[in-house]
Amino acid sequence: MADGLNREVTVAPSDGPRVRGAARGLGGPPDVGGIVDVAEHNRRALFDARRTGDIGLVHSWELVTAVDGPGTRMTLFMSGCPLRCKYCHNPDTMELREGTLENVDDVIKRVKRYRSVFRASGGGLTISGGEPLFQLAFTRRVLAAAKEAGIHTAVDTSGNLGHRLSDDDLDLVDLFLLDVKSGLPETYEKVTGQKLKPTIEFGERLVARGKKMWIRFVLVPGLTDDPANVEATADIVARWAPSVERVEVLPFHNMGADKWANLGMTYELADVRPPSRESLESVREVFRSRGLTTF
Ligand code: SF4
Repeated sequence: MADGLNREVTVAPSDGPRVRGAARGLGGPPDVGGIVDVAEHNRRALFDARRTGDIGLVHSWELVTAVDGPGTRMTLFMSGCPLRCKYCHNPDTMELREGTLENVDDVIKRVKRYRSVFRASGGGLTISGGEPLFQLAFTRRVLAAAKEAGIHTAVDTSGNLGHRLSDDDLDLVDLFLLDVKSGLPETYEKVTGQKLKPTIEFGERLVARGKKMWIRFVLVPGLTDDPANVEATADIVARWAPSVERVEVLPFHNMGADKWANLGMTYELADVRPPSRESLESVREVFRSRGLTTF
């Protein structure tokens, strides 16, 4: 999720040719009575390829250390998200529009290239977004290939589309980075435009399946920092304690504001300042008071 983490980018590779707006390996357009209907062919080919997961619309990717899971990670940011978080750091991932159409086999090859880095650092692959479950067929295939190659896998999700994952899908993922954007249903809806319930149901399912979780909560002054909301969030997460390895309380920052403006979207948090160190610490204490390891 584009939650406004301050990423420590160690390498920003741009290897391999990438084709913007056209999927490679989909074959040529049909010749319909002497007229080549390229647009229709592309539309159908893309539809089929997305359904099978042969291609995916990838917003971007980067190699990071100390965020998005343990060790050094290749984080793949997928386009498309059903939420509309007011603080979204990458609003250009919300619509299934921005990014590069990538062939699944090319992505898998790229992931495998970093196997020795992952092994040395205890890292692996993280699929984020946007919402990685939005283009599930593609995400599933990348996860399955990574798992087969012995690479540690993580998925960074709001849980809103968690019902789309089968139990077998869950087992392709070693670690879920689950964003709990608020604990009070009405605040959650205000923040994201969606319901809290699917996230809670997904968290419960992960616990029942014995999956590991890192929980993320973004502290936004005036939006998520109401004590009742913080307490409610901590109460929910505490119920999942057997699966929760850590909680990360992340400070809001408005570095994504320009992107909202460029997209012609209204950024409501323009005047909101990041939380103070003291308020951040006091919110972390609320989680710690429930026995949760919190950063
Ligand atoms: S869940 Fe979607 S809208 Fe919310 S911060 Fe992440 S990418 Fe942005």
